[in-house]
Amino acid sequence: MSAPTLPRVRCAVCGKPVDGVELRYDPRERSRTLIARCHGDVDRMTVHDNDLQNWTAEERRQFEAIDHGKIEGLAFTTKRLGGEW
Ligand SMILES: [Zn+2]
Repeated sequence: MSAPTLPRVRCAVCGKPVDGVELRYDPRERSRTLIARCHGDVDRMTVHDNDLQNWTAEERRQFEAIDHGKIEGLAFTTKRLGGEW
């Protein structure tokens, strides 16, 4: 068994790969959350499986490429003030 490939995520604030990436799957919510940690801050992005059906093929392709570590994602692109995704 090899370790699962984690998405590669770059920090939009620091311009470098984030300090830590975590991927959590919630089987009850059928959603996965990507958690990126950097510069003492945490950025989260939650995607529900149902959401994927509403995405365009291009959006899905990009999401899967990030999910499999083929391309880099970008975290902390917007400074959210206590907002929720
Ligand atoms: Zn950073």
